[in-house]
Amino acid sequence: MNAETKAQLISIGSVNMDPSLIHRLTIPTAGPGAGNLAFFFNSGGHRVRLAVKSGSPLLAEMENGELVIRKEDIEIARGGIEDELIHCPDQAFVTMCEKCIFDCTFCPVPKLSGKVKSMEQMLKMISDAHLSGKMKAISITSGVEESPEHEVTRAEELIYMLRERYNVPIGVSVYPTEDSSRRLKVAGADELKYNVETMDREIHLRVCPDQKLEHVLNALKEGVEIFGKNTVCSNFIIGLGETDRSAERGIEELVSIGVVPILRAAAKHPLREGEVIIERPSAQRLLHLNHYLRQKLDEYGLRADTFETMCLPCTGCDINPHIDL
Ligand code: SF4
Repeated sequence: MNAETKAQLISIGSVNMDPSLIHRLTIPTAGPGAGNLAFFFNSGGHRVRLAVKSGSPLLAEMENGELVIRKEDIEIARGGIEDELIHCPDQAFVTMCEKCIFDCTFCPVPKLSGKVKSMEQMLKMISDAHLSGKMKAISITSGVEESPEHEVTRAEELIYMLRERYNVPIGVSVYPTEDSSRRLKVAGADELKYNVETMDREIHLRVCPDQKLEHVLNALKEGVEIFGKNTVCSNFIIGLGETDRSAERGIEELVSIGVVPILRAAAKHPLREGEVIIERPSAQRLLHLNHYLRQKLDEYGLRADTFETMCLPCTGCDINPHIDL
């Protein structure tokens, strides 16, 4: 699999295959892909997470111990299925709260009424992951159960406890509060993610009515000052109706403040049918915008391949411009 094939797989996002081929089933509980059955496919050093859907135009079958993906009978990739540790390979990636009081119109989480994990449950999950000998990093994310302050306090408490127990990088992604960057850093976090979701101001107002983009941007800026260069990233959804020019402006704005954007392909979810316009980006569009991102990262002296936690080293859902291109 090369970058072009990976872009094609991300653009389609799913394969039709026998789910029993997956040893450990992945059903993400956070973000736009929440609730879908998915697995990690690795080929030629590139990784992609694919949903399993009977209606997919791609067919995946096992042949001599390899998973072969075909489109209209033509082979497009061949590789292996990777086991996840917690949520993704090599990491204990824990979602503290699987509910959200925010109501971003692309996201199914507010409609899924998921669980809230206790500290004991999370510590046990991470301890089990550590005992497997495969845990290279710990990542923590969350929806918003009561308030952003409440999530920051829980993340802070958890990170203090994890820092005492484990000597691996810790990444954290929450909705920012006034002092979240400083508190999470003091607690022992190494990397930070605050998601802008989209950098198109007009679209942001419509699709993230409970979030304030300028607040997130200010927090990102301060996050870079506190955490340092190449440690702060942000999910940037592509396919919410923004133009390439708008996406490019947004990429440059983030990179210019020291933030590494993660260009995430917008995904349709049946629970959000009719509430939002999703134009899943084509492989060409993903490649174009990621080439632009790489150019900007290089220009501003930032790297996407030095992160050790969360989505940038995972690469399951996105093209990492310094790993995949
Ligand atoms: S890229 Fe991020 S959201 Fe996707 S599987 Fe990896 S860790 Fe999860």
